[in-house]
Amino acid sequence: MYFCVFECKGAPHLGATLSPSREAIADLTAAWPGEQQDAPRNVAELARLGDKGLDIAKRILNEGRASAPVAGLRLLSPLGKPLKNVFCVGRNYRGHIIEGNIARGVDPNLFPEHIEFFTKAPTTVSGHEDAIPLHDGITAQLDYEAELGIVIGQGGSNIDAAHADAAVFGYTIVNDITGRDLQRRHGQWFKGKTLDGSCPVGPWVVHSSAISDPQALGIKLWVNGELRQSDNTSSMIFTVASIIAQLSAGLTLEPGDIIATGTPSGVGYAMNPPRFLKEGDVVAIEIESIGRLENTVRK
Ligand code: MG
Repeated sequence: MYFCVFECKGAPHLGATLSPSREAIADLTAAWPGEQQDAPRNVAELARLGDKGLDIAKRILNEGRASAPVAGLRLLSPLGKPLKNVFCVGRNYRGHIIEGNIARGVDPNLFPEHIEFFTKAPTTVSGHEDAIPLHDGITAQLDYEAELGIVIGQGGSNIDAAHADAAVFGYTIVNDITGRDLQRRHGQWFKGKTLDGSCPVGPWVVHSSAISDPQALGIKLWVNGELRQSDNTSSMIFTVASIIAQLSAGLTLEPGDIIATGTPSGVGYAMNPPRFLKEGDVVAIEIESIGRLENTVRK
């Protein structure tokens, strides 16, 4: 099942389909049983309902009720505005670690021993086709990072890697937009990673039952149609299961939490010479079996 959030008469509605290529999606919010104010309006609210919510969603979808044509729909962030920061993993793809080491003039084969975690504030999160703010005058080095996003379902703490699957609701696409000058200037990465609108997400959250192996997905990013990043999630040093295990050690993961899992090689700052984003640039990301996320940089 694929979930999205779309605008319906000015309000967010949760939608579902068996495939994004279908011409219609089920309006789960409109068809939800009981009082309308209790109906989930985004994937995080659905994830909080657990298996019961998923069963209702399946039933509405199978009955073909309340369908809305996909064409012309405005798709929003599938997770709404998160209740807390987006969790992120730093250097995780071999190629990206090597290009970063070369750009910084250190040994190319210095790989991190432990996962590097940081976060992005809830105000960074935006949706498909939302503008990526240029933040002119604040950063001169805006960059892109295509990433597989994990959406937490059941969650919990101290989750064993062998049981990490059970904690996941599904997968999405994240663009970890970064101000490289700010990232370097402030010691910790947070300031350069958390500018408003710097975390486009979606447009789909694919339920984990539709992804047989999260470590075997092609991931690509284009700027204005030019392919910049192309890799596979099999190149991650730290797998989805190990990320969940290490992040949840002594820290409770909750339904609707998002974890961005790191980016492949091909980022702008590591090019020679570096190429940063400018006004009007169209950044598109595709992850196999998950979909396409596209955003334009605007002043
Ligand atoms: Mg990143």
